[in-house]
Amino acid sequence: MTIVWAEKALLETGWAENVRIEISPEGLIRSVEANAPADGHRTGVLLPAPANCHSHAFQRAMAGLTERRGPNASDSFWTWRQLMFRFLDRLTPDHVEAIAAFVQMEMLEAGYSANVEFHYLHHQPGGTPYANIAEMAERIATASLTTGMGLTLLPVHYQYGGCDKRALGPGQIRFGNTLDAYAELHARSAEAIAHLPADCRIGVAPHSLRAVAAEDLAHHANMAGGNPLHMHLAEQIAEVEEIVAAHGKRPVELVLDTMELDARHCFIHCTQMQSHETEGLARSGAVSGLCPITESSLGDGIFDGVRWFDNGGSIAVGSDSNIRISLSEELRTLDYSQRLRDHSRAALATPHKSTGRRLFDAVNAGGASVSARNNGALAVGKLADMMGLDADSVDLIGRTGDTILDCYIFAGDDRMVSDVWSAGRHMVTDGRHIKREAIVSAYARTMKQLGEAI
Ligand code: ZN
Repeated sequence: MTIVWAEKALLETGWAENVRIEISPEGLIRSVEANAPADGHRTGVLLPAPANCHSHAFQRAMAGLTERRGPNASDSFWTWRQLMFRFLDRLTPDHVEAIAAFVQMEMLEAGYSANVEFHYLHHQPGGTPYANIAEMAERIATASLTTGMGLTLLPVHYQYGGCDKRALGPGQIRFGNTLDAYAELHARSAEAIAHLPADCRIGVAPHSLRAVAAEDLAHHANMAGGNPLHMHLAEQIAEVEEIVAAHGKRPVELVLDTMELDARHCFIHCTQMQSHETEGLARSGAVSGLCPITESSLGDGIFDGVRWFDNGGSIAVGSDSNIRISLSEELRTLDYSQRLRDHSRAALATPHKSTGRRLFDAVNAGGASVSARNNGALAVGKLADMMGLDADSVDLIGRTGDTILDCYIFAGDDRMVSDVWSAGRHMVTDGRHIKREAIVSAYARTMKQLGEAI
């Protein structure tokens, strides 16, 4: 039995003081008691720690390498993608494991409890599968054993080079699988997950409407069963135009017409939606998986969060390209994007909830449903996915209630995060992952090898 005590805590029932929480050996919250004497591990401000809903771990190793203009007059997402393809040709399973562990460590230190890994780098350079088709998936699972981070693994189905079903280009052949090969990859990945702690999960991920056939989406839905189904959707203008040309419908229109949606469905980005698409998708119950730092970095566009929330939409937040892993900055960037577009302030606040509280509640709830984790609130029976903020941080002095969240997100940053638990596993103390040194040195070795190669 683990005991955690906090000066202040955001419980499912609201803010409370002097809160004592008991955690079972299975990582579940067994009891919550307010106004209790100090006991066990002490922390400042205890919050539920959300899942990071979208990541491609290997891209972390490219962070900062794509900020020069290429030969094209207008550099864009598509030139970034070219460098990504060249880079990933160098990656071995050992590299991927070291990078994934480093990414998960940074996610934990930022206050995320779980990594929803949208995993599409499956095969050897040249496109031949490894002897075990799920070799790379197993390496990501092994990384999560190293870091103690909850994992929801999404093996990705990637089959075509475009909506016209053209063959994959040379940069894409490490991703490619037929539907049958994908079924085998998924089954072997599920075996890898079965060796992880019980909170870890698996889902299904058709990559995008460019990379899978629209008529196969029913098959993906079948495979997912009750598990999460994630897909990139409506990220780029060129992508929308390609889908309209092929199907006569915009991507969100196509999804609304052909899929039965609920809160297990997560559509990543949704930065290119018209008003009727925003309203329709929000009302469908599907979750929008937003990655505001990456969307800024790639110039994707601005998600219509105001209209989305006005129509009862759910969101989760993820770090996607991992160019920078910061939970507070993702939330701040999302709200600032709305303010810049609309010339407004506190764009996503309501009369009852401050901006920080609304965003934090939303990504905890949405993150829970799309990661299939029983988390998202500090309450009896939930997973102990929790983060502690340092109450002595200068930006939190004298702050109470929802203002704590506003100060953390808008005035502070992730350096306030002192403790993180994933399903009761206390992996971050004093702001540092407990295995930081070993994880960083394995990542540094990898970066040295890759640096020599590109
Ligand atoms: Zn992505």
